[in-house]
Amino acid sequence: MQAWRASLLWFDPHADGPQAHFEHDGLLVTAPDAAGVQRVLAVGAYAAVRAAHPTVPVRDHRGWLLAPGFIDLHVHYPQTDIIGAPAEGLLPWLQRYTFPQEARLADPDHAHAVARFFLDEMARHGVTTALTWATSHPASVEALLSQAQARGLRWITGKVLQDRHSPDGVRDDTETSLRDTETLLQRWHGRGRLGYAITPRFAPSCSDAQLRGAGELAARYPDVWIQSHVAEQVDEVRWVRELYPHDRSYLAVYERFGLLRPRAVYGHGIYLEDDDWALLRRSGAAIAVAPTSNLFLGSGFFDYAAARAAGIVLGLASDVGGGMSFSPLVTMRTAYTVGRAAVRGDGKAKQGVSLEPLDLWWQHTAGAARALGLAGTVGSLAPGSEADFVLLDPAATPLLARRCAQAQSLAEWLFALIMLGDDRAVRAVHVAGAAQQHNLT
Ligand SMILES: [Zn+2]
Repeated sequence: MQAWRASLLWFDPHADGPQAHFEHDGLLVTAPDAAGVQRVLAVGAYAAVRAAHPTVPVRDHRGWLLAPGFIDLHVHYPQTDIIGAPAEGLLPWLQRYTFPQEARLADPDHAHAVARFFLDEMARHGVTTALTWATSHPASVEALLSQAQARGLRWITGKVLQDRHSPDGVRDDTETSLRDTETLLQRWHGRGRLGYAITPRFAPSCSDAQLRGAGELAARYPDVWIQSHVAEQVDEVRWVRELYPHDRSYLAVYERFGLLRPRAVYGHGIYLEDDDWALLRRSGAAIAVAPTSNLFLGSGFFDYAAARAAGIVLGLASDVGGGMSFSPLVTMRTAYTVGRAAVRGDGKAKQGVSLEPLDLWWQHTAGAARALGLAGTVGSLAPGSEADFVLLDPAATPLLARRCAQAQSLAEWLFALIMLGDDRAVRAVHVAGAAQQHNLT
């Protein structure tokens, strides 16, 4: 058994919103399960939990915030090397930077090197689980999942499917791509804490046969994830309409091929049609909101009010390399500014909302876990859940220390951390209870 004393934030895992608990002086106790994965045994006020576990050694981190490890719902690990590359929007950015860089991951040695750096960077920012994009090369999946396994991470990725409208080097073959997908998912899905995601890049890059094959695999393996992109940019939506003139909407294309279901997570969803919200809700598919990417690529502003009114499942994502930062704190504060906007980006008005700090935090932890169908497993720190967590220092920078010291409430304190914090605030990351990272004291 192990125990940590700090300020504690945790969430009810199954609530459809931020049902949060906070203890200024809290204690978290973990113990390994039969598989050796550290799980939360007890969480709560220090005095009460200590009385129930008087002999367990305690690491004292009073003054720091212990919270669930962050979950990134959409991030492209091969794009680590092109973060911050300028371009005139999504499609030119894909052609000029993304595809040439992704082509390099056919080389297993290069894929391993990028995967190592990427996982180090995610840990430095407090991210302990991510629904990650690899490339179209099976070697890119092997590299990331073997590295994640060595670190004991709960991690999900998949080989990208893209058999058309893609340049040499990343374009795959329909039959081979589906065979590779099934081979990889049989090898990796459910191995330790790892998972596989069927990964059609987006409707324009996949033939009907490839999308149909992906849908058949999704039906045959219902606990495997699905990830793709939908309705990110105005030009892209127009292109999909040309390619699929008989489908009601971009999202409806995925429905027709059996790719909307629980454990399906679609990036962006800025330009969904009105009827798409109900379709999402009915299907149980989730949206990964990626605000820094949407601002960087000039895509637009996600409509939180419409999504919330429809009761859809959503969570936050960095979408690096379109995203500007690996930091969940940066993503949360950008989500706040995106929420405030009163336009979508195509001239259509949306309602501006002020997202509460606990809501933002939930969207990157327990809410994201719910979007993955992993509520109660990660993202909450409720008793029984896996002990992936971060320790954040609210005095990590002079300004952060000064502002946090003047906070009048928990909400103000968390909001200051969200608005002013970054990787410097992440002092330790624990994966299933095992110390993984830097600055652990
Ligand atoms: Zn993406």
